Amino acid sequence: MWSIVRCPGCKKCRGIRNKVGKCSYCGFVGDDVEVVGKAVDSSQLQREVALANMPAELRDELRKKMRPEMIVEEEADAGLFLAPLRLAADEKGVVSHEKLAIELQRKGIPISIEDLLEEAVHQGLLLRASQDRYVLLD
Ligand SMILES: [Zn+2]
Repeated sequence: MWSIVRCPGCKKCRGIRNKVGKCSYCGFVGDDVEVVGKAVDSSQLQREVALANMPAELRDELRKKMRPEMIVEEEADAGLFLAPLRLAADEKGVVSHEKLAIELQRKGIPISIEDLLEEAVHQGLLLRASQDRYVLLD
């Protein structure tokens, strides 16, 4: 389960799992974020965050246009994370935090690296080898 929170600094929304952490847009640190919604998986999270970051009038229009069959995505939840993880891993499968940050930004995945790593370990995509070392299981 993910929470969608709005940053009091820049008013942008992002997804978090447990800890509020630092805003991925403006770097704001603090717990006084506004919880605006919940998402059960990462594809719902990505959609909800995209909607939350839109102007209200556009958001309602778009929500109306989203039919249920469009909301259920074909891609497995793991697929969303696997692509950036693959790109961020070296030939031994060790994931670089710096590369992962770049891939997350490029794909517009609105979550922190820590949350993504935690979720990927939970889904069995990654092995936590040591404190800051994650290895891609393939
Ligand atoms: Zn912010």
